[in-house]
Amino acid sequence: MAKIKGKFAFVINSVQDNSNPRVPVAGEDCFTVTLSKAKSIADDRDIFVVLRDDHKPLFRDIPKEVNRIFVKSNSVYEILFKIYQNIKGRYNLIVYIFSDEPLFDVKLTEKLVESHIEELSDYTYGEGFLPGALPEVVSSETLLKLISLIKDKESPVKRDSLFELLSKDINSFDIESIFPDEDIRLLKVELTASRKINRIIVEKLVSALGGFDVSYRDVCSTIKNNPEIVRTVPAFVEVEITDRVNHPVPYLPVDAISRKRGEMDVDSFHRILEIVHDFSEDPYISISYISEPLLHPEIKRLVELASGYENLKLIIETDGILFNPAFSNFIVDLKSDNIFVIFQIDAVREETYKRIHGTEIRYPERNLRYLISKGFKNAFAQMVRMNINEDEMIEFYNMWKKEGVNVVIQKFNDFAGVLPRLSHSDLRPLDKICCYHLMRDMVIFYNGDVPRCKQDINGNAISGNIFNEDIEKVWSRGNRLFVDYCNDRYSDDCRKCDEYYIFNF
Ligand code: SF4
Repeated sequence: MAKIKGKFAFVINSVQDNSNPRVPVAGEDCFTVTLSKAKSIADDRDIFVVLRDDHKPLFRDIPKEVNRIFVKSNSVYEILFKIYQNIKGRYNLIVYIFSDEPLFDVKLTEKLVESHIEELSDYTYGEGFLPGALPEVVSSETLLKLISLIKDKESPVKRDSLFELLSKDINSFDIESIFPDEDIRLLKVELTASRKINRIIVEKLVSALGGFDVSYRDVCSTIKNNPEIVRTVPAFVEVEITDRVNHPVPYLPVDAISRKRGEMDVDSFHRILEIVHDFSEDPYISISYISEPLLHPEIKRLVELASGYENLKLIIETDGILFNPAFSNFIVDLKSDNIFVIFQIDAVREETYKRIHGTEIRYPERNLRYLISKGFKNAFAQMVRMNINEDEMIEFYNMWKKEGVNVVIQKFNDFAGVLPRLSHSDLRPLDKICCYHLMRDMVIFYNGDVPRCKQDINGNAISGNIFNEDIEKVWSRGNRLFVDYCNDRYSDDCRKCDEYYIFNF
């Protein structure tokens, strides 16, 4: 392939979080593939690889002509500043990509650079592409300005760091973009290799398209014709640890559950953590499936176990009534950034709260405020939007935001017609999309049974049992349902359900 006219630095950033910068993908390592594609449009001496000091031994095989930029941390400031130091005075523009993006479209990259040069742009990017499909192009002087906009020098580099910095003063920059023929971003997947959930997509595409040198157009049409490509491993797993609630709330269909329920013992929960962690690598685990998790007699032990996994994120969705200061202290003492606590408060007014939760609002409010006062960052105040609390929504949002608490406004779910419709709001997208729950979520009942999805509260369509079968086998039984759904073939429940567009994680 011809090199692009005009001199530019092609910068490959191998530094992100703690993920392996040379993760294998489809029999290659993603860095080698990204580098070899970069070499098809840039000379070795114009290529720069950003790598961490402690990763030096991993990169001994880089050709000596290729430049190395060593950094000590994953701080966005350090990375961008070192890039600037290395290219200043030598290059007017930089093509910037992460090393785990081996499917980037080379032809469109050339178009991106040409457009940047022709339009005398400060920053040029692909608008409407999946992450990992294209590098970004930034002028050297613009990079310096972006560095000056970094307030927190310790903040870690992210895939969208350049754009995020640009957005801080967007009117000061001349931004150009190119657009894809098709916009498939609603699938919310990435063409990147660091996380397993996306890496498998890259591998399936490489297998379907015969290699890494692919066009973005072919990537889109292959995914559209084979939607099972994007169903890889569960990202969000809801575990039923108990069958109890403090008070039946109108948005939880406790009374409609007719299957035998029970409590999960500590060993079973531990096994689930092991199984799911091995399979998904970095899942979110919620322990609140149609129940109040703090009513589990061993709740502290369960939380301790989950917090022992570096890549696993634990979601505790609670009515907050038992989340007293002693429990808050226990959570805070775990010193984990991977625990997220969602308080179901649902109201501002005392009488509204009482109608929903049957007790006094001061209990959960006090408990949430105490947790926040201990410096806990991952706490959320949640309102499930219903007709009875709709007119309190804005006040709810403003009140908690003012107190520095994250707010979640949750859609009311009638569980495919099981509950009466208690909300008139309808936020369904105009175009039907594949069900995110079939694509990314897994529910595990207390006995290990895995239903079709969270709406299948009585386990009418069980995919298997996590304790008796391989998780891969159980998960793969959902493939056909997912493909059917994407092709407009719905089960009776799916036809009645309006949860398909709610994306968890
Ligand atoms: S559409 Fe609803 S019922 Fe069907 S799989 Fe998705 S969440 Fe479940």
